[in-house]
Amino acid sequence: MLIFNDEQRLRAGIRSLSKRCSYCSKALGAYPLILSDDASLYVYHAACAAALATEILVDLYTFFRPPTPYHQLFVLDATQAAHQHPGGCERKK
Ligand SMILES: [Zn+2]
Repeated sequence: MLIFNDEQRLRAGIRSLSKRCSYCSKALGAYPLILSDDASLYVYHAACAAALATEILVDLYTFFRPPTPYHQLFVLDATQAAHQHPGGCERKK
């Protein structure tokens, strides 16, 4: 959620701009801010939220396409998993 002013900040449950950014640990200080959608109140400078999202994307990319000489660690194959564990995810009564 984007926060642009004091009213939005207070409604989001963030009492002051002296609260620290969940990414860089510096005081929030100024708008715009970004609040995570989790139940916990993670709030970020807008630039820090962008940096965090970029890190997640890079991590995901290198997980699925690791640079040489590394090899992919896992192959996600739903059909093979279903074959090995038929009905494995169903809850038993
Ligand atoms: Zn920050």
